[in-house]
Amino acid sequence: MSEQVVLERNDLNGLFTVLQGQGYTVIGPTLQDGAIVYDELTSDKDLPEGWTDEQDGGIYRLKKRSDKALFGYVVGPYTWKRFLDPPEKRLWQAKREGNDFRIIPENEPPPKYAFLGVRSCEIHALAIQDRVFLEGDYRNTSYEKRREAALIIGVQCVQAGGTCFCVSVNTGPRAESGFDLALTEILEEDRHYFVVETGTDQGAKIIDGLKVQPAKETEVAEADNRISHAAKNMGRKLNTEGVRDLLVQNHDHARWDEVANRCLSCANCTMVCPTCFCSTVEDVTDITGEHAERWQKQDSCFTMDFSYLHGGSVRASTRSQYRQWLTHKLATWIDQFDESGCTGCGRCITWCPVAIDLTEEVEAIRKSSSLESVVQSDKER
Ligand code: SF4
Ligand code: SF4
Repeated sequence: MSEQVVLERNDLNGLFTVLQGQGYTVIGPTLQDGAIVYDELTSDKDLPEGWTDEQDGGIYRLKKRSDKALFGYVVGPYTWKRFLDPPEKRLWQAKREGNDFRIIPENEPPPKYAFLGVRSCEIHALAIQDRVFLEGDYRNTSYEKRREAALIIGVQCVQAGGTCFCVSVNTGPRAESGFDLALTEILEEDRHYFVVETGTDQGAKIIDGLKVQPAKETEVAEADNRISHAAKNMGRKLNTEGVRDLLVQNHDHARWDEVANRCLSCANCTMVCPTCFCSTVEDVTDITGEHAERWQKQDSCFTMDFSYLHGGSVRASTRSQYRQWLTHKLATWIDQFDESGCTGCGRCITWCPVAIDLTEEVEAIRKSSSLESVVQSDKER
């Protein structure tokens, strides 16, 4: 790791100046409609100074803090995927030309985003989406261009949310890599500053334009202490031991009926999840038949159309939809991509209107199954 530096709170706006000077559009946390969401920021004044969030199953509430922290909350309903793979995007247009037609591809230059305030679980989610979109046989070229142009400025979590469980899935709270810069915010009685780590040459170039000084050992130790504090105060826990086999071997467990009785099939959990990637395509034409467009739209395993094959949906029941979501996320994702699809961000728990909690669901199945046989078979894999 390169030498860490300290950026005083009063000099933070210099970061915006440098980023904007290099042509970046800064996207980061801001207050909107009763939540902290990600949107374009023009200066540090757009950050949610002095706000925090309270989160629990089905609960999200903003609260005033007693200090002026800028990053004193955890993740909200938005994820960075909406900027890298927008929920709706046009793939191409077609225009009639006599008896023929011409395809017009989307050739817009990719936006150059600087993402400010990316948490460790979200950096892991970006890596998971990279794998899905960039490493298969079919690359998502629009994602690829946006991702290549993006700068990642992480923020180390110094407090954990009520639904966070990144420690259980080894994705946080400390961001170890995957960022250009990472800030740890420190508020003391008479001082407010950031300890800044550099992850890439691009990050180092940004630092060159800022008013910083080398971090003292005590400042780095203070940052470490605060991140350790977050690690010890996770709102949730998930026992991942043997979880792949636990779910795969319990396809017919009664708990799927129990959860289906509560689940509204609303798809919120998939919309807020930073790793869910399913989409569908829709073709539209104008009334004259001269112009057609193909759109990609975010979809979910909770919609009937998503699993529609010839003759009907293969996952028509809520039971089968929830089972598909949870089993894919925590089990068959490992078969498909060699890693779990869950980064422990807790969004699906917070934003479920009926407070369904995947950590509880897994535990309920585990308690009524033979754990030993599951762990044993996990070791044999
Ligand atoms: S499954 Fe839930 S906790 Fe895991 S990454 Fe998705 S939203 Fe976050
Ligand atoms: S688990 Fe919750 S968020 Fe997900 S579809 Fe069911 S009711 Fe909606």
